[in-house]
Amino acid sequence: MKICVIGGSVAGLECGVNLAERHDVAIYEEHREIGLPLKCAEGWINFSGVEPYVKGRKVKEVHMNLLGENFRVVDNFVAKGDALQIVSRPEMEQKMAEIAEKMGAEIITGKKMKIRDAAEQFDLIIDASGYPSQWCREFGGKKPYGFAIQAFASNDFDSVHVFFKERFDGYFWIFPMKYGGCKAGVGFFSKSPHVRMRELLGRFMESQGMRAKGFTASPVGCYLNKPLLRKFKVPVALVGDAAGLVDKGGGEGMSKAVISARILSSCINNSRLYEYEKRYFDFMSLHYMAANFFAFLRKNWKLLKTFGKVGFYDVAVKALRNHYGKKQI
Ligand SMILES: Cc1cc2nc3c(=O)[nH]c(=O)nc-3n(C[C@H](O)[C@H](O)[C@H](O)COP(=O)(O)OP(=O)(O)OC[C@H]3O[C@@H](n4cnc5c(N)ncnc54)[C@H](O)[C@@H]3O)c2cc1C
Repeated sequence: MKICVIGGSVAGLECGVNLAERHDVAIYEEHREIGLPLKCAEGWINFSGVEPYVKGRKVKEVHMNLLGENFRVVDNFVAKGDALQIVSRPEMEQKMAEIAEKMGAEIITGKKMKIRDAAEQFDLIIDASGYPSQWCREFGGKKPYGFAIQAFASNDFDSVHVFFKERFDGYFWIFPMKYGGCKAGVGFFSKSPHVRMRELLGRFMESQGMRAKGFTASPVGCYLNKPLLRKFKVPVALVGDAAGLVDKGGGEGMSKAVISARILSSCINNSRLYEYEKRYFDFMSLHYMAANFFAFLRKNWKLLKTFGKVGFYDVAVKALRNHYGKKQI
């Protein structure tokens, strides 16, 4: 089968890795270089059931802070650091591209691909183009989105720091980078946010005594877009942010992009494309349940604190790790 993958980031490359041995796969990436520009805090969750392609940097602890007036920390609690690791995403995507090419995929960079054009040449299209998805750009139906902005800074940390603000549907973060330095950012999950995120991030960083070296920002696909469209000229499957799979609890869309791509690939390889949506949500049901519960806690400070102080987050991470550790995609 001739398969066109639109987008050469984590979701698209994962399709290449899993499909190229059996199918004729072309991956189109509009940027010239795989992995760049970097628009991610690079935190890879360790309880998703999939490993990153590269070795990450260990995180000592996760410090969760509650912010009061003027971003003053009014309370905090600490969870173990084994919930996540920090990867270098450019390194990881370049490694994925190398594997996909070895498997036989053709990767075409510096080329924007349209679904209408791809439908003339391919039997199946995988839309891995991130938010709002190439499908929505061409055919409408654009979904609401969350939004995240981050800045680089030279301060180095051995732990991850997360900050919550009362009545704020999101969180601030400081994530170390794999090779030193850090990123401070803020993500917001309410529908199509209109808050002044850059100003907010500036005030937050000032309160932490940090100087921003450069900003990156992007919408976050956290409102579901139909993952499989079968009534077009050729079938079109959406993966990762294009399908709106990011959860509204912690975000963490990288692993979901990889998992959705891996499940889709397995469905294609077994001639069961129609099972994709069900298999993905069956596999991820516990994850989304936990994420939704966390999103609920985030908006209920008293509970967030109580659960934090009794070590609930470590228990939840352990339970998810056990659950996904036994599952195979
Ligand atoms: C500031 C910020 C911080 C984040 N931090 C984290 C984090 O710490 N951990 C985590 O797990 N997630 C994080 N995320 C979310 C994560 O980045 C996304 O969920 C993830 O990148 C989704 O991967 P994807 O492959 O689906 O889409 P994307 O990474 O958006 O990739 C889509 C690719 O498609 C290409 N493309 C688009 N249209 C076309 C076209 N027509 N033709 C060719 N190419 C095209 C784009 O250039 C892009 O490379 C963060 C997001 C932001 C904005």
